[in-house]
Amino acid sequence: MDHTELHSNISQVKSRISSAASTANRVAGDIRLIAVSKTKPVEDVRAAFHAGISDFGENYVTEAVDKCIQCSDLHITWHFLGQLQSNKTRQVAEHFDWIHSVDRLKIAQRLNAQRPAERAPLKVCIQMNIPFEASKSGVISSDGLLELATAVHNFDRLDLRGIMAIPAPCSELSRQREQFGRIAGLLKTEGLPVEMTELSMGMSADMEAAIAEGSTMVRIGTDIFGARYT
Ligand SMILES: *Cc1c(COP(=O)(O)O)cnc(C)c1O
Repeated sequence: MDHTELHSNISQVKSRISSAASTANRVAGDIRLIAVSKTKPVEDVRAAFHAGISDFGENYVTEAVDKCIQCSDLHITWHFLGQLQSNKTRQVAEHFDWIHSVDRLKIAQRLNAQRPAERAPLKVCIQMNIPFEASKSGVISSDGLLELATAVHNFDRLDLRGIMAIPAPCSELSRQREQFGRIAGLLKTEGLPVEMTELSMGMSADMEAAIAEGSTMVRIGTDIFGARYT
């Protein structure tokens, strides 16, 4: 992608974060911008890094690990966001700093066992399925959240941080806010083993609503790198 365009996209996204934060009486610095580079070439990652982005999100293990290796000279924080099959947990455990998509015990167990000793514990968000009726992946009840959060908390190579969710797309701000508000409410679930403070929510089309409802990590692909064709 053209570097001038990439720079201007990044400044636009950053100013959207600032104005959404100030509307919500929040500090923009409390909202981490994750640039979602899935399907985009490694040159785009390097260019975005040099334009000031240090957090990158990826969805597909093989592609992601390639980019992690090719960018190992850069100080990047890598976030795994996609659905994870259990035969690919080792690659995520070895190469990533965060995973936002832990949705079942078996995945957590394997990541814990496979996290290299020389690395800090893997930071984890539990993926919730909101709305509960959608056929997406994710934990579907607050009981399910309690159970998985307790397990993750007890694994010493995992560091439980928060919740991620991808609500059903809708264009109406009030409806977006209602869904994000429900997700944020899950952090107050009674009986959680530890205080969870991270809310990974908000993408290109709904980041303002997510920030209004307390998002601490927005995951932006299209509005930084352009449309994906694959
Ligand atoms: C692709 C993806 C994004 C980025 O979505 P955009 O609409 O392109 O900003 C964010 N989060 C997850 C989990 C994704 O898969």
